[in-house]
Amino acid sequence: MSKSKISILIADNSPPEIKNIKSTLKGHDDINISIHTAKSGSDTLEKAMDKKFDLLLMKQNMPGKNGIVVLQEIIKKKLGVPVIMIVAEGEEKLGVKALESGAYDYLTRNEVKTAALNRAIRRAMQRKKLENDISRSLQKLEKLAIRDGLTGLYNHRHFLEVIGKEYKKSSRHVQPLSCMMIDLDYFKSVNDNHGHQFGDHVLVESARILMKLVRDTDFVARYGGEEFFVVLPNTFLQGALILAERIRNAFEKNTFKDGKATEVVTISIGLSSIADDNVTGAADLVSNADKALYRAKAEGRNRVVPYDDKIEESSIIKEEYNKLASFNSKLEAFQREVKERCIESAHKILCEIETGWGTFSKHSVRVSRYAENLSRELAMSDDDVDAVKRAALLHDIGMIGVNSRILHKRSKLTADEYNLIKRHSNMGVKLMEKTRLFERELPMILHHHERVDGNGYPQRLRGDSIPAGARVLAIADAYDAMRTNSSYSKSRSASKAITELKKCAGTQFDPRMVDVFIDIIRKNPES
Ligand code: GH3
Ligand code: MG
Ligand code: MG
Repeated sequence: MSKSKISILIADNSPPEIKNIKSTLKGHDDINISIHTAKSGSDTLEKAMDKKFDLLLMKQNMPGKNGIVVLQEIIKKKLGVPVIMIVAEGEEKLGVKALESGAYDYLTRNEVKTAALNRAIRRAMQRKKLENDISRSLQKLEKLAIRDGLTGLYNHRHFLEVIGKEYKKSSRHVQPLSCMMIDLDYFKSVNDNHGHQFGDHVLVESARILMKLVRDTDFVARYGGEEFFVVLPNTFLQGALILAERIRNAFEKNTFKDGKATEVVTISIGLSSIADDNVTGAADLVSNADKALYRAKAEGRNRVVPYDDKIEESSIIKEEYNKLASFNSKLEAFQREVKERCIESAHKILCEIETGWGTFSKHSVRVSRYAENLSRELAMSDDDVDAVKRAALLHDIGMIGVNSRILHKRSKLTADEYNLIKRHSNMGVKLMEKTRLFERELPMILHHHERVDGNGYPQRLRGDSIPAGARVLAIADAYDAMRTNSSYSKSRSASKAITELKKCAGTQFDPRMVDVFIDIIRKNPES
């Protein structure tokens, strides 16, 4: 019988001790032992990293890193070398600590000189072998596993094997073969609405529905998270279509129930067949089914789509479409930025050329905030809310055309002066029209002084014929004006301003909007 070989690393900084160990190790007829040494903790760790050693005999009180620390790092790094710790006489406690930290065994200095060392080495080697055997068996078992743990269906790896074999069989015997890729629709929201556990229940039940509807000779696999794949040997596309439709229908009619939660979950199915022109291997069957499934999703979900050449074409169209969509969204983002910069610059320039413009700027910012809150609460679209915000920032910009003596006059305005002020809505539009950037905002600016009773300006529009954004602005503008000091009036309290808005609801302001606005202010007086 050939001698077994083991390579031992002795970690000890004392030459006489090393000599002792070496001489104890001599008496083995059946084992060929090669011995290496390390003199410090870090030296030991470095050598252990090479993974060349079958065993490490380590003194506990090594210089540098002590033995326990080295051992802990060996375990943490999963270096896999069995460790026997050597402790001083009377230091058995440290030996126990070593065992707790993952050492295979420990010996005292005196034991090292006896047969105890040989016994410990043999036990360690046996244990290591056992551990290796177990880990190899587990690996083998893992490889042998063909079922998915949750659903009990074939797992992805086994599916690949099956489809490979079935493809070969069908092409050799010139037999039909079809495939189905199935994906649950909007499954993310099933998880979001009812929790992951309910999601898992849906997956298990889905597997059950599939197994009930297919033939014994078909293979059903869990392809991925909420995706299933069915391989249909000996089946033409026509047959696969009928089965797919039956499955789709079964899901549509089914209600998943678990405890209190109930949900209908539809599915989309992509079909492929060995008869498709581009199929030269199992991978093409999978990829064609995947493309068809993608198409089923794009066409609205809850449907069955068989692969055909046009899908290739449409995937090119899809790419073009995506490019255009991405260009458009970038352009829109850019336009938004340009608009914001333009508004900012307009205010900056006005501050430079008009003393006191800062007051208008601050008022605009506050009006914009009120208008944003109100339009959001009115459930306007995001685009409309943005437009209202911008219109609010620009609504008084036409005031620049009004003589500053009138603008800052402290006493009551004469009728002529008031008429001049009234020009500001028109002036604002004229100014901003030139930029060609604010088509949506201009009508709001123009009409922000209209009244729902038709007595406003500049066009005496009435009720709903006044743009909604302008009606929002009118309320936001009036509220802020009432809440702040101006040259001709002192600020009013929130409750007085609210009373005034109420009084004017239905004549000056849209009454429904006033109600909503008052609600916002009451809920959050700082809004
Ligand atoms: P679509 O109609 O486009 O397929 O929408 P979807 O929400 O189903 O699409 P998506 O593929 O983005 O989401 C799949 C979700 O499936 C995401 C993941 O949280 C969930 N999922 C994947 N595996 C499992 C699982 O084992 N259990 C549970 N509960 N959920 C899973
Ligand atoms: Mg899905
Ligand atoms: Mg999916």
